Amino acid sequence: MRPANSHGKTKYIFVTGGVLSSLGKGLAAAAIGALLESRGLSVTFQKLDPYINVDPGTMNPFQHGEVYVTDDGAETDLDLGHYERYTTAVMAQKNNYTSGRIYHAVITKERRGEYLGGTVQVIPHVTDEIKAAIRELEGDADVAIVEIGGTIGDIESLPFLEAIRQFRIDVGRQNSLFIHVTLVPYIKTAGEVKTKPTQHSVKELRAIGIQPDILLCRTEVPLSKELKAKIALFCNVGTDEVITAQDVKNIYEVPLRFHEEGLDDKILELLNIWTGAPRLQPWQELVYKITHPAKKTVIAIIGKYVDLKESYKSLHEALVHGGVANDAAVELRYVSAEDLEEKDAGALLAGCDGILVPGGFGTRGVRGKINAITYARTQKIPFFGICLGMQLAVVEFARNVAGMADANSTEFDRATTHPVIYLMKEWFDYRTNQVQTRDEMSDMGGTLRLGAYPCVLEAETFAHRAYGCDRIEERHRHRFEFNAGFRKPLEEAGLVISGTSPDGDLVEIVEVADHPWFLGCQFHPEFKSKPMRPHPLFRDFIAAALAFRAAHDHGAADDAT
Ligand code: GLN
Repeated sequence: MRPANSHGKTKYIFVTGGVLSSLGKGLAAAAIGALLESRGLSVTFQKLDPYINVDPGTMNPFQHGEVYVTDDGAETDLDLGHYERYTTAVMAQKNNYTSGRIYHAVITKERRGEYLGGTVQVIPHVTDEIKAAIRELEGDADVAIVEIGGTIGDIESLPFLEAIRQFRIDVGRQNSLFIHVTLVPYIKTAGEVKTKPTQHSVKELRAIGIQPDILLCRTEVPLSKELKAKIALFCNVGTDEVITAQDVKNIYEVPLRFHEEGLDDKILELLNIWTGAPRLQPWQELVYKITHPAKKTVIAIIGKYVDLKESYKSLHEALVHGGVANDAAVELRYVSAEDLEEKDAGALLAGCDGILVPGGFGTRGVRGKINAITYARTQKIPFFGICLGMQLAVVEFARNVAGMADANSTEFDRATTHPVIYLMKEWFDYRTNQVQTRDEMSDMGGTLRLGAYPCVLEAETFAHRAYGCDRIEERHRHRFEFNAGFRKPLEEAGLVISGTSPDGDLVEIVEVADHPWFLGCQFHPEFKSKPMRPHPLFRDFIAAALAFRAAHDHGAADDAT
């Protein structure tokens, strides 16, 4: 192993947050990555989360937002989604650590006797484990952007802050940088912005030995030169190291605004890196497209967490990207699945050009989701079912087209005589090259099919037309599967199986042919959509929704305005 104080080729940017949470640290880190990439540097990221859960897989999306899944099957913080969307970096297990995972490693070592009977302490044992985790990024890119979750002042994040303080000494000043994201609130009654919270937050950072190099000040209004000078004076940084991070209408504007503030120049100066000028044209074009759409379409999302946008973050973005690909604004309408159990689907879904049933777990709202699918199928409204949405599309088809009245997923009814979606006892796992087994008793975390799996596509299907190739890889996060025992009767009734695992055992995509666009996929395509590379399924779903809107006059009136 390399001695702790030697330095390889990677330089490190540590991003911390102050004052309060939800300041968009993750987006800021992603935007910094985008700017550095636009200057020809390679970047990677890491998110260090202070909570004790070993990974976010078992956390309620209500509390924590979406669980983002990487190719290698890690269940991670949603910020990794921002990192992948804004850059070409590929995230994996090592790009997200929690306190729980760090402590787990330390305690495992202690149990194995690796500390030779020494007293195991936060400093140095936990901090060394954190530094080793950061070190895993060494050599992966020119610059590694490491975001510390939580807010300065939290007890939980202290070991991480101590570790990055030490890390800087290990790698040297020109190889590391501290960026602090803070809030400069605008007080309406006084008609002015206040710098005190920022001062306090930086004071707290300095008390634990970290002097930030750059302050990213989140604010509603532009910060004047005088104000920047004031913040600089009190926080011990240069005026040009105080960056205005003003609220933007569209999140993809952030890299451009940061550049206007001189952020990338400053970072490169402090890290002593020479590059050419940034190539920001793709970002400018993207923002122009998003802010000047020629068309509009309305998509209904049938959900359980109706107004919790954070839990469908990637889905949201993927729909925006699908809009970009079609020069259209996508208006999302959240429709409560439970409302759809009581009220008329036609009334609740009136005015929608496409219906999307996203992934989910648990029985709540399942009947309503099935009602929405029946409506989409029979009224020939473009339909996109993702994971649970695909499974329910199969259930709906089995019940209402193939005549299997009690068809269900065994997730919801174990006694059904038509378990069209079930727990597969045994299957070949392409990722580990092993036969996997599962049953109802297997423990919660261990039984999900997670990460990227190959899928082969059937010619002349919606899927094949979208992807334009025969073989794809998409990311999964689910336990239940299409039951191949029902494949024949369902196909005979008209269900199209357009994508399967290479051995044909796992059904990955289903379609209804006599329909403008009806597709359900077992995987989560939203995890791989990027603004610069909209996902083909989202692109085609939005295209179908636009065609539906054009053919029905319900949208014509407000489109003209
Ligand atoms: N609950 C379903 C399963 O476990 C679907 C999961 C999902 O939509 N991510 O298979």
